Amino acid sequence: GVSRRGIRGNFVPPIKSSGNGGGNVTSRTAGKGEDALDDSTKRCMELLCGPDGELPEKLRNLEPRLIEHVSNEIMDRDPNVRWDDIAGLEHAKKCVTEMVIWPLLRPDIFKGCRSPGRGLLLFGPPGTGKTMIGKAIAGEAKATFFYISASSLTSKWIGEGEKLVRALFGVASCRQPAVIFVDEIDSLLSQRKSEGEHESSRRLKTQFLIEMEGFDSGSEQILLIGATNRPQELDEAARRRLTKRLYIPLPSSEARAWIVQNLLEKDGLFKLGKEDIGTICKLTEGYSGSDMKNLVNDASMGPLREALKQGIEITKLKKEDMRPVTVQDFENALQEVRPSVSANELGTYEEWNNQFGSLA
Ligand code: ADP
Repeated sequence: GVSRRGIRGNFVPPIKSSGNGGGNVTSRTAGKGEDALDDSTKRCMELLCGPDGELPEKLRNLEPRLIEHVSNEIMDRDPNVRWDDIAGLEHAKKCVTEMVIWPLLRPDIFKGCRSPGRGLLLFGPPGTGKTMIGKAIAGEAKATFFYISASSLTSKWIGEGEKLVRALFGVASCRQPAVIFVDEIDSLLSQRKSEGEHESSRRLKTQFLIEMEGFDSGSEQILLIGATNRPQELDEAARRRLTKRLYIPLPSSEARAWIVQNLLEKDGLFKLGKEDIGTICKLTEGYSGSDMKNLVNDASMGPLREALKQGIEITKLKKEDMRPVTVQDFENALQEVRPSVSANELGTYEEWNNQFGSLA
């Protein structure tokens, strides 16, 4: 059972201030008597109050500082990623649009036979755009985006992860439609251990599954997206709740070309010909999206380094003094930036996709 009151620091339901007709949260902390919350916490709690100036039921027994942390650090009001920012992954985009964006936009249509799963798993190598997809979903569905890395629940919030999870789902339910993105979800829902498993991490996992169950059955407009690059660590219970599982693979050759062109164009540095781009694509087989980004960053330093080598001082350097970025710059950068995913790992993803992936 959940104790309703009395843990030190628990939030006590707001008392309307008599002066200005409500909307104002005043509170004290249990066990601390008259201690008031500091201003930023108070403001944050006020924002979560309903039109009646009352804090929603779900948040009443949670600690204000955790609610504040969720509102300020985990909630992202403007994720600012659009579909068009994501290279390739046409298949994933199409699936996601049907499976989760439409249902979030039209809950009235997506019920009964059409009722969507509330859990989506994005798996694949690191740096392939999983987080970008999560943010873009929130943007397209006009939903509030919450981002948390599961490993921070066990490392940074030692012993408090459970409470933070409650606060996270509580705030999300006040901010519907909502997308909760849990990065490295394997570290939360893994099948490893049992014996060596700490009591606290077991409780955290249980709490998390309970929260998921809660909105799965209800009419809430909350989508949970888990991302992982170790899908094989997920246990059966986790798979059951993450009903849609999409493989987010390494970028294709066209997607890599697009990333290079897009990043250089943004800075007005794009002067490469078709053939050059072709060469770069050939040389970057196996590079992830984030590897490509690092590669472009490094390559774009080439002209600058060269200008400085010729004796121009950095403070006197004019942009016109720098030549455009060339294939040679990319070839040099390739020595510095190596692909971060091995062919071996890729095999594991494909196997898991064949076994558990949606629409494999
Ligand atoms: P992860 O799959 O690990 O969540 P991210 O979505 O965080 O990867 O991507 C990291 C960075 O790599 C992005 O900010 C972006 O710059 C680049 N990137 C990765 N995949 C793509 C992609 N498909 N299109 C464009 N940029 C990408």
